[in-house]
Amino acid sequence: MKQVWKCDFCSQTDLSAEQMSQHETKCTFNKVNRYCYTCKVSREDGYDWHIRGCDINEDTFRGEEEGNCPGWVYEYLEKDRDDKLNELGI
Ligand SMILES: [Zn+2]
Repeated sequence: MKQVWKCDFCSQTDLSAEQMSQHETKCTFNKVNRYCYTCKVSREDGYDWHIRGCDINEDTFRGEEEGNCPGWVYEYLEKDRDDKLNELGI
């Protein structure tokens, strides 16, 4: 048995806390990086193989490879808003 550090955004693990910190800042599932994976308007277009689609026709190659997509919308925006309203007691 080994103790590992796990990414807050995906299932990746590492024996080094420093390595995991570095991964988290660039993780494709970290919403600050604005990748297709966390975007509300992104969709799966392929049936037999993976093809990324986009409801507003942004460049999905860039959205998956580089992130920081200009059309990115956070998938859980409504939940974020509800959580904030709950915090404020509204
Ligand atoms: Zn990760």
